[in-house]
Amino acid sequence: MTKPAKLMVGNWKMHGDLSANAALVAELLAATAQRQCRAALCVPSVYLAQMQTLLSGSSIGLGAQDVSAHASGAYTGEVSAEMLRDFAVRYCIVGHSERRQYHAETDAVVASKAQRALAAGITPIVCVGESLQEREAGQTEAVVKRQLAAVIQANGHCISEIVVAYEPVWAIGTGLTASPQQAQQVHAVLRTQLQAATAHADRVAILYGGSMNAANAQDLLAQPDVDGGLIGGASLKAVDFLPMLRAAAR
Ligand code: PEP
Repeated sequence: MTKPAKLMVGNWKMHGDLSANAALVAELLAATAQRQCRAALCVPSVYLAQMQTLLSGSSIGLGAQDVSAHASGAYTGEVSAEMLRDFAVRYCIVGHSERRQYHAETDAVVASKAQRALAAGITPIVCVGESLQEREAGQTEAVVKRQLAAVIQANGHCISEIVVAYEPVWAIGTGLTASPQQAQQVHAVLRTQLQAATAHADRVAILYGGSMNAANAQDLLAQPDVDGGLIGGASLKAVDFLPMLRAAAR
């Protein structure tokens, strides 16, 4: 089976404003790089309507950064998967380490969020990753396997429809990047775990995230089990993001 094109996803986190968003998207759409790999932008939910319009008819998919674990009801401030679908959202990050850390999201909550997204026809980008302390204690494999196992267990045969992002917590926004070998090692563990759960594990894109930039993208993307990237800081400027899309298109 030929491997699907690499998937490059920008995570804007809590950045952007109406005019900056429009300028960034215009620059991205004017370039050709994004047409040769799969690309998506996960934006703050208040900008989904704007981005739906700006990205309409383009090859860049629209993504959200979180979704409620509940279907609907008295959950002030939450956004449901069905609401995201109203804005043609194709991807939704779940279990980003910033949500696990600052919003106390457990493996079970992350699994429910993935379930809600899948039920609405949205691809969850399930983030897993170890802290520096866990890495130094030799727990990397156990941590990422536990995090992914919760999602596999809750989602059964739909598991081939997810995207996984390996994001070592110590590498996010720190300028420290996992080496290509470190990333490949963990990606291979995740691939094996997916293979045990589904005959279609090769369909699951496993992205690397954590201070990925124009200088290191090519070497990371050259690893056999690195199917793309989840990119925070370096997705906020076209001058940084476009070379990464080009590296993914090779
Ligand atoms: C992220 O937010 O998912 C991320 C990987 O951030 P950064 O690229 O800035 O490390």
